[in-house]
Amino acid sequence: MALRFYNTLTQQVELFTPLSGNLVRMYTCGPTVYNYVHIGNLRTFTFQDVLRRWLRARGYTLDHVMNITDVEDKIIRNAAAEHKTLAEYTEVYTQGFFEDAAALRLERPERVVKATEHIDDMAAAIQKLTEHGCTYVSEGSVYYRISSFPSYGKLSHNDFSGIRAGARVDVDEYDKADARDFVLWKAHKEGEPAWNTALGPGRPGWHIECSAMAMKYLGETLDIHTGGVDLTFPHHENEIAQAEPITGKPFVRYWLHAEHLSVDGQKMSKSLGNFYTLRDLTAMGYQPEAVRYLLESVPYRKKLNFTMDGLKAAATSIDRLRNYKLRLETGKFPPGANETLAERTARATAAFDEALDDDLNTAEALAAVFEYLRDTNTAMDAGEFLAGNAAGAREFLARFDSIFDVLNPSAKSGGLSDAEVDALIAERNAAKKARNFERADQVRAELGARGIILEDTKEGSRWKRQ
Ligand SMILES: [Zn+2]
Repeated sequence: MALRFYNTLTQQVELFTPLSGNLVRMYTCGPTVYNYVHIGNLRTFTFQDVLRRWLRARGYTLDHVMNITDVEDKIIRNAAAEHKTLAEYTEVYTQGFFEDAAALRLERPERVVKATEHIDDMAAAIQKLTEHGCTYVSEGSVYYRISSFPSYGKLSHNDFSGIRAGARVDVDEYDKADARDFVLWKAHKEGEPAWNTALGPGRPGWHIECSAMAMKYLGETLDIHTGGVDLTFPHHENEIAQAEPITGKPFVRYWLHAEHLSVDGQKMSKSLGNFYTLRDLTAMGYQPEAVRYLLESVPYRKKLNFTMDGLKAAATSIDRLRNYKLRLETGKFPPGANETLAERTARATAAFDEALDDDLNTAEALAAVFEYLRDTNTAMDAGEFLAGNAAGAREFLARFDSIFDVLNPSAKSGGLSDAEVDALIAERNAAKKARNFERADQVRAELGARGIILEDTKEGSRWKRQ
């Protein structure tokens, strides 16, 4: 079967084909840079990374745009509280986002674009909406008239036919029950940043940002638009309403939404003390690749329950994968090639591909990998895995890692995995036992140089990362 995705718009799993040739035009709602992103946001960005990588593995070329929301109510409030300009305030968190993305090995989209650098594009889009009769002005602000767009609600599958015409909302985020005319352009208020455009001094609403930038870079119809499920309404509904009256064409062909992440079964919130950024987790000693593995291990349309036990299990799974890779690279296998095992490799590869083709079923893909590891480890123990089988196994592992990207230890961990640290400590203990203190000291120095702190206790050696 070919590649297929669940499309929020049609509520169906559909075969994926781009509009033009092999090029996939894709848009992602990026971070609002008022703080460091939390692991719920990172779940969505990790899903997008897996999507990018799998599309490429299937032979597609990407033109992927992600926005940085660097002007918005919360940002303005926080910047003012810290007596900083908008740019000073957002720069810290924009860089912070790129650092977190790099630590999680998220590929950078082909274009990352800032809202504040596209204010004129947004003003132009609002003017076009006015020409199409979709807007009205009230107290200097421009609003979108929902009743001018009869198919409003088609993405979130809400019936808005009963909404009160003329009722409007000034804030960018509001509830499902609160569908009202939304703000496109906010008139200048004392103490707020403003831009001078043909619409007069003011600033854009959040929703127009994405429609204007998506169409500027990707054209009238996008292949894929992604985001967290909480953006479906109102944000993405509004994006459609802002784009389609202007172009008369479908704005997006496939809408893909990542489900929520909870922590210990509860909604993540600062007041519950279960709110985590990637920085929080790495400060606690967890490896970014374990976070990546945990986030990608649950298929994106399933709710993900994040727990510390889950994170530890992710680290253990990575160790198993790395140990297997080490065994493949350093093991001495008898000559020849085992036909049955060659078939086993082909079957594992097909199962892995089919799982990801099936709306990115990462759990099934991982199951295919671990079943293969178990079977081939058993074959190695029995001497049935032959030298001629190694290349195929390495290739399969490389295919897995081109998507999941967890095999190489990150620089932050000194390039050593937990298993490698344990192996070195075992070697040091053996050296001490053999009264080879020179070698024991060498190993200790090597571990120290790679950021591992060793502690000798009565119960044996303990270690931690710097
Ligand atoms: Zn957006």
